[in-house]
Amino acid sequence: MDQISKQKQIASLIEEINFHNYQYYVLDSPLISDAEYDNLFRQLASIEKSNPNFVLPYSPTQRVGHPVSGTLSSHPHEYPMLSLENAINENELIEFFNRMKKISKSDTIEYVVEPKIDGMGVALIYINGTLKKALTRGDGYQGEDITHNIKTINSIPLKLLKKSPEKVEIRGEIFMTKKSFEDLNNHNHKTGDKIFSNPRNAAAGSVRQLDPKVTAKRKLSFYAYEYTNPDEESITNHWDMLNQIKLWGMPTNPFTIKSSEETVIIKKHQEMEKIRSSIDYEIDGTVIKVNSASLRKKIGFRSRSPRWAIAAKFESQKVDSQVLEIVLQVGRTGVITPVAKISPVFISGARIQSVTLHNQDEIDRKEIYIKDYVVVERSGDVIPKIVSVIKSRRPVNASKFSLHGASCPSCNSQIKRKEDEAVYRCLNANCKDQIKSRIEHFVSKKALNIEGLGPQIIDQLIMQKIIYSYADIFKINEKALIALERFGEKSSENLVGSIETAKKTEFSRVLYGLGVPNVGEHIAKIIENHVNGSFETLRQETVETLSEIEGVGEIVAQSIVEYFNNEINWSLIQKCFENGLQVIRTEPKKGLLLGKTFVVTGTLNNFSRVEAKEILEKNGANVVSSVSSKVFGVIVGDNPGSKLGKANKLELKIYDESFIQNLI
Ligand SMILES: [Zn+2]
Repeated sequence: MDQISKQKQIASLIEEINFHNYQYYVLDSPLISDAEYDNLFRQLASIEKSNPNFVLPYSPTQRVGHPVSGTLSSHPHEYPMLSLENAINENELIEFFNRMKKISKSDTIEYVVEPKIDGMGVALIYINGTLKKALTRGDGYQGEDITHNIKTINSIPLKLLKKSPEKVEIRGEIFMTKKSFEDLNNHNHKTGDKIFSNPRNAAAGSVRQLDPKVTAKRKLSFYAYEYTNPDEESITNHWDMLNQIKLWGMPTNPFTIKSSEETVIIKKHQEMEKIRSSIDYEIDGTVIKVNSASLRKKIGFRSRSPRWAIAAKFESQKVDSQVLEIVLQVGRTGVITPVAKISPVFISGARIQSVTLHNQDEIDRKEIYIKDYVVVERSGDVIPKIVSVIKSRRPVNASKFSLHGASCPSCNSQIKRKEDEAVYRCLNANCKDQIKSRIEHFVSKKALNIEGLGPQIIDQLIMQKIIYSYADIFKINEKALIALERFGEKSSENLVGSIETAKKTEFSRVLYGLGVPNVGEHIAKIIENHVNGSFETLRQETVETLSEIEGVGEIVAQSIVEYFNNEINWSLIQKCFENGLQVIRTEPKKGLLLGKTFVVTGTLNNFSRVEAKEILEKNGANVVSSVSSKVFGVIVGDNPGSKLGKANKLELKIYDESFIQNLI
């Protein structure tokens, strides 16, 4: 066979495979068996293998490419990906209809209703019909480039079937079916890999992989719901737009309907709520959009959402279960939390078997007994809770539960409740679980950020009496570590190394790490500036002086003063410093180039790149290594390479070495 006919054969096989994809994913009516499909795929792959020069970039064999190095890069959206306003009940939906009628001065408005999939929004950019870029929604204005992973999703065509505009951006939702989610978690359970809490997290985690091979195994699905700036002559409404998308070979949601009858729309919404558990993917509502493009124009936008569409949410899912027992947990501040262990249930794709009951008042108010049948609710990522007790089903052996007179699950000392507090506490300063969680908090990422000091190691260190408090962490040495289980020379060295690094840290990290009630990272930063990074100064403050600070309320002020006036707390802080902790002050940035981002590329004659970076940073600039639209200017030396080309394309400011010279 000659070269040209090989090329033709490749093209026709791709066309055939794409046609069958269309039959399968868009029309849901495959014309050939999976085996026949695989056969076509193998034929194509084998011809391509012997003719590597003819492999087309949009060939279905090219779906799994090379891993991306480093991190995913960010790109601005050409058109912002707006969010939708929510309607949380039928009344709000009716209000929406009335608003539309009023603004548009029209009595009958046609709407399109589609299920609201609980997945991840993406924008797919096709140039001359070929998939060129895929971005996550991100913050709506800037998304991450996930092209390498999106290509692995079989229902997304690499090349559109019919003629399309030169450039078109198609948007839709990536999701994982319940079945794929379960399979993935079962598999990960066996291999000891990450267990995802729900299909949405699993989908989001999968499309943000660096290696497309991982994504390809995750079996993601896709439905498109719109494309940006359609040709106004031919597409005058949303319904036609969806049909156009289907003609391009892209699946859209089959439950979508259009109607001008408000009652029909409400009925569709209710029907979707009824069948939601029998659909093989998670939906959390319906989206209702004005159909006509010209009417949409008239109705317009709010700042972050179109006025002509609304997301009608379902009520959060409720499932019956039984309280098996109520156990107690002690937190780092000594607060005792009662937790109900329930017979495991699945809600919104997550397996739930314990539900916090918060405190005794909550248990009393809801009249929750041990062995009671209860209604458990969870909406989205929200912590599950017991909504109510099914009293008609209360077993005869059900028993009341009381924290009164109970003892701490960790140290067994009796728990107490202050008169004005809802919670019981363990007041034992040496309570092991409290100490343990305090240390865990102290070394956590946002606090001292000591890598490699996980809960199990902390547990061992306490058990072996190597540490008694967080202040002892700074004294840990390799000799003590090697004696522990699973510790070798290398790992001991590493841990001591990361403790050494953590010794020099910011005031705000230490303050946050102490776990003063009501003091989060943000407040810790405010306090750092106020006391100029000194714990001595902080100790002199009063409730009055602290409450005057912008952003610090009286409750926060009170809890800080109480904490630092406690002698035990204060001596532990001092011990930290005695053991080598040092607080470093980061000067607030200032300078000519404040807020501007620069890239340095190529060889400079009078400076090394590190020197150039330092000089720029001294003047307030932020220096990064890769060129993007976020960059303000690029300093170019000799042999700059591809970064200069990219900078020119983005029309960034280009400077030579004299720019640095002038800063000195
Ligand atoms: Zn205790």
